[in-house]
Amino acid sequence: MCRHLGYLGRPVPLSALLFDPPHSLERQSYAPSDMRRGGTVNADGYGVGWAAEDGQVARYRRAGAIWADENLASLGRVVRSGAVLAAVRSATVGMPVVETACAPFSGDGWLFSHNGKVPEWSKSLAQLASGLPVERLLTLDAPTDSALLWALVQDRLRSGAGAEEAVVSVLREVDAAAPGSRLNLLLLGHGVVVGTTWTHSLWFRRDEGGVLVASEPLDTGDGWREAPDRSVVVASESASESTVDVRAIGRR
Ligand code: GLN
Repeated sequence: MCRHLGYLGRPVPLSALLFDPPHSLERQSYAPSDMRRGGTVNADGYGVGWAAEDGQVARYRRAGAIWADENLASLGRVVRSGAVLAAVRSATVGMPVVETACAPFSGDGWLFSHNGKVPEWSKSLAQLASGLPVERLLTLDAPTDSALLWALVQDRLRSGAGAEEAVVSVLREVDAAAPGSRLNLLLLGHGVVVGTTWTHSLWFRRDEGGVLVASEPLDTGDGWREAPDRSVVVASESASESTVDVRAIGRR
């Protein structure tokens, strides 16, 4: 069910996250170790978004399998960033296999990914989506649960919510409207990364270089911790300090 990661810290080549580690995102696309109840491989698409030195965000997405992309492999060796969100996709049955359905979704300096599924999303999310302007619904990246979740999170951010508040409030409301939803959400930008666990795995590691949050550990090295189910991992990174907090997502 899709694999994603977010990194904040010292600039690294994209390949240090996507291709080089023993259990890189590329490897997780064809040999994931913890898919739980959904899918076997993540070969329907992939994407990576990153902040350049001047803060501008770039994004590269493709339908298909990440392991077949020689262009990304060579770009990844030379493009460096200290703020990266990347994902590989296993499309939910019934959802289109197109580039625009791949994470990261982006806007306003944010990058967003969803690992999971909202059952009967077009019905169950209709009520929540009714708060969005029609033009936002008409400009969804793709007709998928994940694209609509991003529109909802973006709407909260634009209304002034902080990153954690935007992500957790959307998660709670979607879970209430569509019980049984799988909602591992990941939001990165503006020096912060927020990741939720809601039926899928999420691990994190903090070291002197920065903080990495990922569906599966990228290597067997020390320092990886698994976030318990139904929790939110919030990490921030600035020149002066870095923090990681894990909090349970209670019901309101
Ligand atoms: N439902 C989302 C999609 O189809 C995410 C899929 C997943 O996590 N496997 O893109």
